[in-house]
Parts: sequence; structure tokens; C-alpha cells
Amino acid sequence: MKCGKVREFESELYEEIKRQISRDCGIEITVCRTEVGGVCDDCRKKQAGN
Ligand SMILES: [Zn+2]
Repeated sequence: MKCGKVREFESELYEEIKRQISRDCGIEITVCRTEVGGVCDDCRKKQAGN
């Protein structure tokens, strides 16, 4: 949230969740977006220094 740094995140668990949603809802997922915001390590250090 502070510096606007964006990271891609991938994991087996995330793929499994998508498969489960696809199965349970009977849809084929073509777009999947999950947004997580926070303060990264660098910005936390800067905050601590102030
Ligand atoms: Zn940051």
C-alpha cells in the first residue's frame, strides 16, 4: 500500500482452490483475480526507522 510494489503469487493451494470453485459452481474459470494489500518489508523497516 505504501510503495506500490506488486508481486505475483502462485501456489498449489491456490490452483486447488480454483479447481474446487470451478467444480462446485460448475463454471470454467477464465479470469481469476485476488487482491491482497499491505505494507511490504521495506516499508515496514522505513516506518520503524521514523
Ligand atoms: Zn513497500
